[in-house]
Formats: sequence, structure tokens, C-alpha cells
Amino acid sequence: MGSIEIFANDLYTDITLWGLVLLFFTAIYCSYNLNLNRAIWYLFAGLVAEFLSSWYGYHISYNASAATISMLVAVELTFILISVVLLALSASEILTGKAPVAAYAVGGMVFGLAAIIFFCFISPDGDMINNMRKIFPIAGFAYLMASFWSQASAQQQTGYWVAASATSITTLYLLLRLFNIGYFVEHTWYISLFTYIALAFSLMMLKNGYAYKKVENLENEIEKYNRRLEEIIKSSPFPIVISRLSDDKILMANDNAVKLFGILPSELERYHLKDFFADGDNRQLLNERLEKEKEVHDFEILAKAINGETPFWLLTSANVIDYNYDIALYCSFQDITSRKNREAVLKNQAIRDPLTSLFNRRYFEDEVNRRIAAAQANHQQYSVLMIDADHFKRVNDTYGHKTGDKVLIELSSTTEKSLRQDDIVARYGGEEFVVFLPALSAEEAKVVADRLRETISKIVVHSDQGDEVRFTVSIGISSSAISDNIDTLIKTSDEALYRAKESGRNRCEIFTVDDLKNFNASVEYKDESANHHPIFDKENTQEISLLDGVDANHIVENQTQIEEPKKAEPTAAKEVDYPILGVDNDEFK
Ligand code: GH3
Ligand code: MG
Ligand code: MG
Repeated sequence: MGSIEIFANDLYTDITLWGLVLLFFTAIYCSYNLNLNRAIWYLFAGLVAEFLSSWYGYHISYNASAATISMLVAVELTFILISVVLLALSASEILTGKAPVAAYAVGGMVFGLAAIIFFCFISPDGDMINNMRKIFPIAGFAYLMASFWSQASAQQQTGYWVAASATSITTLYLLLRLFNIGYFVEHTWYISLFTYIALAFSLMMLKNGYAYKKVENLENEIEKYNRRLEEIIKSSPFPIVISRLSDDKILMANDNAVKLFGILPSELERYHLKDFFADGDNRQLLNERLEKEKEVHDFEILAKAINGETPFWLLTSANVIDYNYDIALYCSFQDITSRKNREAVLKNQAIRDPLTSLFNRRYFEDEVNRRIAAAQANHQQYSVLMIDADHFKRVNDTYGHKTGDKVLIELSSTTEKSLRQDDIVARYGGEEFVVFLPALSAEEAKVVADRLRETISKIVVHSDQGDEVRFTVSIGISSSAISDNIDTLIKTSDEALYRAKESGRNRCEIFTVDDLKNFNASVEYKDESANHHPIFDKENTQEISLLDGVDANHIVENQTQIEEPKKAEPTAAKEVDYPILGVDNDEFK
């Protein structure tokens, strides 16, 4: 403490030095991550300079000439001055977080140096020099003391109280020594050790307090953030749900979400987010995307209320957030069921025939192309049936178009019901229908076709006048043995149909491999006689009934379904069990 007495004994020097080393390591540890970084290092540097001045002062040899002694004392005092400036800088850092401007520090130095030069060289004064040795450190420690006290009362941290008390004791001690009061001023080495250890101790406490405060601030921030988030969520016009990522439990849901999913606000924790998914795969897909992207926008999910049966469509945006110390999933929803329904209706309209609700020709061709590719990959056979109502013109002519339409509707539904779920039935043209039969050879398809033909021949439709209307169909069959091209399959089945018509109608004919030779040769002829051949009538055939709306309910019913309507379950599951209605086989007259 600017005193030569502390080095009166080598052991004291060693002990004091170890105290300084302890402070050094504490400073390294505490300055890391503590916002007092610079203050700590100014403090440490100040104490080191102070220690050096004591050590140096003790070793000055007073046997030298007066001029040399003046020089040596001036150097000692300069060390003390540096120490004071550093302690003052540290004090200022502690107080304001900012060291005073360089001019301020330099000013102090210049002033101090002027005093040193004056009293050492210009007007040497032993008493004054001795006083300076004592007054300079008092100034440094008084600065520190004031800063620590002010921070202690402002921040109420134990570390500051300890540091303030320690520096006060040191300052008081230095004052007592200045005025030569008391007994212990003679034995001064321990005051340095006390100061170093007490400061090291307070730094550790400051560090702990700081870390604790940081956590506390963080907690406050989190709480504030959560409150703000909850307010935003509550006032949102959209349903919003927050669920814990680890166990999927619902943590929070706003009023709109509570209404949408039919849950009780008081029992949120009972529910899981997955409870609102009508489709598990959908949920899986959302999770996978979230894992990759952390946030997902405009994801469509098929949802359901907690006790609801009917699923509904939601557009979802989801992101992973921090919520109340949990990692959570934030999901906002928008009900898009009506949009989805409209889309389904439009899609249906694009692929279905409005009169019979069967698929239309375009869909049939697209779908069969896909099926053929799949069948080829699996080395499976398949067949195509071309079905044409016999003498259908007569039905129209005799009973009117309305009855003709009824016949077409009955014919369609019977055909669909009689076939397997995997078969595709489409309305190809006016009174022509086409069927794709996977996994069947032409011969097997003929068995199916004959049964279908018989079944159809037993249908009875009533005209508006109450007449019983019966009708038959002729069927042409082609298969994978002939071609894997949809156009060729249709042309060749149509060729076989033509033969069935020629041979008297109400019968099935297969287009065989042998027929291919004649078929190729007769293409030209058929082209010319387009008017007489069913296949070339298609261009002129109306796909849509002249009497649209006859069975308006049938159409409307079909259009309001959300999902693409499934084919009616076939009455029999396997290909061999096609239903046969009755035995009556009246030909249409
Ligand atoms: P064939 O046994 O040779 O097939 O004789 P057909 O009378 O059935 O053949 P044609 O091609 O001469 O006549 C088909 C008729 O089907 C003509 C057309 O008016 C009628 N038709 C086509 N589409 C519809 C429809 O949607 N509703 C009704 N009611 N009739 C239709
Ligand atoms: Mg016909
Ligand atoms: Mg026809």
C-alpha cells in the first residue's frame, strides 16, 4: 500500500505475492462473461503497479548520492501515480461502464508528475515525498470505494457490498497510517493481502450474482414473450393451437380452435394434436416436413373435431417455437372445406359423364394407359369390352328420349355393379360403353361379358306411360394378346362389336390374333364405310344427353360429394362371381 514496510520480511512478500496471483486467476475467471471485464483488469493492473511501487520503494538504496536518490524516489512515486490512475479508471468503469476520456486520465498523470518532479528535484522535500507515498494510494482506493458503494446500493448485489466494505477498510487503514494513528499501522503487510483476497472474493460473488441475474432477466423476458404471444393468439381470427413437440400435448388453444375442434378449454392438456388429424399419414407427412424445414406453410390436412365424425379440410401453417420452456409446435388453421368441395365437384365434372355418372372417355383413356403400364410391369393380362345398346334408336323412337336416358342410366349402374371394383367402366359415346378388365384374358373376359349381357337383358325400365322397356347389348372384346395400345384395343374391340351386331346382336365376340390380318387389310374399307360402322359413328355421337337434367337428383347428388365418389361395391367380390339376374331373356322389340 505504497508502503515500504510490507517487504520488511521475505515471507510477507511471498504471501502478498500469492494473494496477487489469486486475484489474477480470479480476474481471469470472472472477467469472462461478466460485463465488468475492463473494470476488473484496470483494478488488477492498478494493484500490480501499487505492489511494484512498494517492492521498488523497499529496495531503494539510500546510500547513493542525493541526486540519485531523488531519481529513484521519483520513479517509485511514478509507479504509485500510475497505480492511482488505473484504480480511478477501474472505479469509473464500475460506476458508469465507461472509462473517463483519455484527457481526464492524462490530466491526472500530468498533474501527479508535476508534483513528483517539483518535490523530488526542484524543491526536494522528504516529508512531502513521504506524504505523497501515502496520499496517492488513498486517492485510488477512495475512488474505488465510492464506486463500489454506489453500485452496491443501486444493484443490491452482495458482491458489491463486500467489495465496498473491503475497499473502505483499506482506505480507512491508509488514512490511519497517514496520520500515524493506532498500533497496527506499523505492521502493514497483511492489509495488501486482505485487500487482494477480499476483492477476489467479491469478484466471485459478482460473477455468481451476475449469472443469477442473467437467468432471472431471461425468465422475465420469456414470461413477457409468452404473454405477448398469448395475447396475439387469443385475438387472432384464425384457430391457433400450440402443442408440445416431445409428447404432442396441447399447451394452448385460442377460442376459435376450441370451437373448431370441439374441445373443452379447461381440459386442454388431455388432448393431443394428433387427435385432430383424420388421416395419420397426413400427420406423418407434416412431421417429416417440419423436421426438414422447421416451418411449413399452406399444408392441407384432413382434420376432425374431437368427437366429430365428418372430416373437414384445413389449411395449416406450422412452426417450431419456444413456449414456456418447452419446444412447441405453433399451428394456425384456416377452414378450406368449401373450397375443397368446389374443387372436388370441378374435378368430378371433368372426369365424369353427367347423365350416367360413369367416367368419361378422356379419363378412361388416361387411366387405362396407366393401368396397362402397370400390368406390363407385372406381366399381367387385361381385356377391354366395347358395349353397345342394340337398336337403341328404337327405344328413343318408341318411348322418347327421356325413357332412353333412363335406360342408359340403368344400363350404366347395372354394369358398374356387376363388375369388380378394380374394373373401369366409362361411357364412351351415346349408347356405347367401354370397360377395362385387369388380369383377365379375352376368354375369361368373354365369360364376364356374357354374364353381363344376360344381366342387362333382364333389366326392366318403365317408361313414363308405364310401359315395360327391355333391351339388350352387344359386346366386342379385345385383350392384351392383341395390343398394349389403348387406341388399337378400342378399335379392335369395336371391330368385334361390329361382328356381334352383324351376327344378330345380344351376343359377345372376341377379336382374335387371327383377326388382326384381316383387320389391318380392312382399315381402308372401314374408313370409307364410316357411316355403317359403330366405331366411326363416334365422331358424331353426343356424349351428353339431349335430355340433360332428366335425372337431375342423380347428378346433383354426385356433385356434392367431397371425395371422388367410389364405385359401388360389386355385389360379388371375385371375377367369377358376377351376379346374374333372373333367367328371362326377352329380346328388345
Ligand atoms: P345398333 O344396334 O346398330 O347399335 O342400333 P342403334 O339404334 O343402337 O344404333 P344407332 O347408332 O343408329 O343409334 C344410337 C342412338 O342412340 C342414336 C342416338 O339418338 C341415341 N342416343 C345417343 N346418346 C343418347 C342419349 O344420351 N340419350 C338418349 N336418349 N339417346 C341417345
Ligand atoms: Mg346401338
Ligand atoms: Mg352405337
